[in-house]
Amino acid sequence: MIIKMSPQATQGDIDYVVARISSLGFRAHVSTDVGRALVGVVGSIDISASAALSGLRGVEEILPIRKAYRLASREYRSESSIVRVGSVAIGADAPVVIMAGPCSVEGREALLEAADAVKKAGGRMLRGGAFKPRTSPYSFQGMAEEGLQLLAEAREATGLPVVTEVIAPETVPMVAEYADMLQIGTRNMQNFPLLMAVGRAGKPVLLKRGMMSTIEELLLSAEYILSQGNHQVVLCERGVRGFDTVTRNTLDISAVPVLRELTHLPVIIDPSHAAGRRSLVPALCRSAVAAGADGLLIEMHPRPDQALSDGEQSVTPEQLSRIIADCGKVATAVGRTL
Ligand code: PEP
Ligand code: MN
Repeated sequence: MIIKMSPQATQGDIDYVVARISSLGFRAHVSTDVGRALVGVVGSIDISASAALSGLRGVEEILPIRKAYRLASREYRSESSIVRVGSVAIGADAPVVIMAGPCSVEGREALLEAADAVKKAGGRMLRGGAFKPRTSPYSFQGMAEEGLQLLAEAREATGLPVVTEVIAPETVPMVAEYADMLQIGTRNMQNFPLLMAVGRAGKPVLLKRGMMSTIEELLLSAEYILSQGNHQVVLCERGVRGFDTVTRNTLDISAVPVLRELTHLPVIIDPSHAAGRRSLVPALCRSAVAAGADGLLIEMHPRPDQALSDGEQSVTPEQLSRIIADCGKVATAVGRTL
């Protein structure tokens, strides 16, 4: 349920409500919406306790939340949320954020070259996997901590905040030490211990939709993170499995407006893993911006034919520059900036 505080409620009133909720054995989650405080309660409080809360000073209204994903829902918060990654803002009316870089961190020179290309093209964040969740155990698994160190070095060199994947709960503290944003990949969207671990890590999270997951399941996975006290969650549609093999996955563009209705969390699109082929990436980027995506996560490699993973779907630096220029025009057409 949500406790809507009156616009006149003081910080003391809010603190008192939070203390009463904790004394009932529940976790309270305070946010603001259109200038007033909202106190979300995770868990179901019985009717007599909720009646007692409704009489506290500063409480205007107690509202049930019908959605299973409470904290993620628009019912909970009607204003779109902004997630901040270093100096980059994602969501609401912030400029569309381009995150780009190689699928995997492969080595120092290649990463620094890629980071430089992302920056020159107008990208605002650097992506690159140091821990790779590969379908085959014989494929390149990533450079692990050495890869994280290289990402940190690339951030130093370019000023671009870094997003990188974490695949196991026990490595969350290590990845969080180097990264600006923690990526949860499609294969781990329902790895609940991992979601809870990133929920406690205090870093923004990029949560990708499972390739066989519904929108509701995606939102419930986000709820695992939010319910741990971490409100900095960005959702990412990256294509789902369909019957057609002409593309690697099927990009569900409708996820953007659907999520916009259901949640206040920012939504971005990863066209690369959806398409599986670089020739399709520019059109999917433009359509994502047209549909209202808050950002794009694009695989880019200085020499895609030499990439250790996902080279076929990685665009070149020149293509990335063109994509960003074209998406800027689309953003303008739909009343957004980039
Ligand atoms: C990636 O971003 O390189 C990745 C592994 O993505 P996904 O989890 O969407 O397959
Ligand atoms: Mn990849």
